[in-house]
Amino acid sequence: MHFDAPSFAEGNSDSTAQFNGLKQFKTAGRGFWGNVSDKDWNDWKWQLKHRITTVEQLEKLMPTLTPEERAGAVLANANKLAMAVTPYFFNLIDMADENCPIRRQVIPRIEETTTAKWEMSDPCGEDSHSPVPGLVHRYPDRVLFLVTDRCAAYCRYCTRSRLVSNASGYDFHPEFDRQIAYIAEHPEIRDVLLSGGDPLLFSDDKLEQLLARLRAIPHVEFLRIGTRIPVFLPQRITPEFCAMLKKFHPLFISIHSNHPRELTTEVREALGRLADAGVPLGNQSVMLKHVNDDVTVMKAHVQKLLMCRVRPYYIYQCDLIAGSSHLRTTVQKGLEIMEGLRGHTTGYAVPQFVIDAPGGGGKVPINPDYIKQLNGKRVIIRNFENKIFEYPEKEDGTPVVAPHASELEWLGKD
Ligand SMILES: *Cc1c(COP(=O)(O)O)cnc(C)c1O
Repeated sequence: MHFDAPSFAEGNSDSTAQFNGLKQFKTAGRGFWGNVSDKDWNDWKWQLKHRITTVEQLEKLMPTLTPEERAGAVLANANKLAMAVTPYFFNLIDMADENCPIRRQVIPRIEETTTAKWEMSDPCGEDSHSPVPGLVHRYPDRVLFLVTDRCAAYCRYCTRSRLVSNASGYDFHPEFDRQIAYIAEHPEIRDVLLSGGDPLLFSDDKLEQLLARLRAIPHVEFLRIGTRIPVFLPQRITPEFCAMLKKFHPLFISIHSNHPRELTTEVREALGRLADAGVPLGNQSVMLKHVNDDVTVMKAHVQKLLMCRVRPYYIYQCDLIAGSSHLRTTVQKGLEIMEGLRGHTTGYAVPQFVIDAPGGGGKVPINPDYIKQLNGKRVIIRNFENKIFEYPEKEDGTPVVAPHASELEWLGKD
């Protein structure tokens, strides 16, 4: 008897090797900054001060800088979302790979100047739901509080590129008092989500003042911070910072990581410090072309997040932000990824796929269809292996008989 076991095994072990490689925790290393002292390198202010922000720096540091990237970097700084990358994060770029998933997220490209017909500057309609500048009140019981317009590094697909800037100085929003007053005057607001920009760019003192103002409002039950700093700048997550956060529980943090290579040993340690301070951690990913639009990559990523004590929370379909077509993938691809995760790995590792509805509808959950039939008499469902099952429901109190095998067979075929 003959069969093709060897070639199958080979193909299989290739993807297993890729998967295992993605799951390894590695340090970002020192790269071009080998001569910098440990003290400086581990100082988050040093990292911020030495960010890569100019095309001249890119030319020096990236031997493989492409014409598309060079032109993108020039235009980005002139009239679009600024470029900035921390030295730590820059070291994760694979210089040999033009499509490196790290590179695509932070190095501008000329395609950013192309705006598709359906792309917008405010794709989620946030400005129309802002009772006070910098506050978005879309859902009944919670607000999004945009506390600053700066980030440690700028994601090229930023949904708030209309707001973020790279000016210096780290102070509260000019409307800060009105923002706090609005929350205080609206007792239905029980959940405040701090975002921006990145709230963790504030000093410990400044952030403590902000959290204390919110905690002084009796109806604010729950605080959370959306931040990419644990990924762009893990040096920011100091023991002193974690001790400060502890005073404001219940306080959750949502990080933003898209690819398993972003989860380095440095990031794992920073996240461990937050978890040890009792901060429950979630992750938000954006599905991006050539970055993470792939089941193997996503599965390695979500499993690695659990090892960092982070629960995958949302995967976003890329917002229709102007100049992001080159990073966009299809909703169908997102569904394929969800199919490839649910049932195939730990339930805690499976995030919710959402579309933030263009124009301001909020987040809409998008799920593969596991219901084959639902008619009041019975529910016919399929599992992750595409096997068909029936859950009987009563109609007029009469139990339903088992489904006909022929019908199940038919349902399984579509
Ligand atoms: C995402 C978001 C929230 C928080 O939504 P959850 O589903 O509770 O995480 C709140 N307000 C706005 C405007 C948002 O975009």
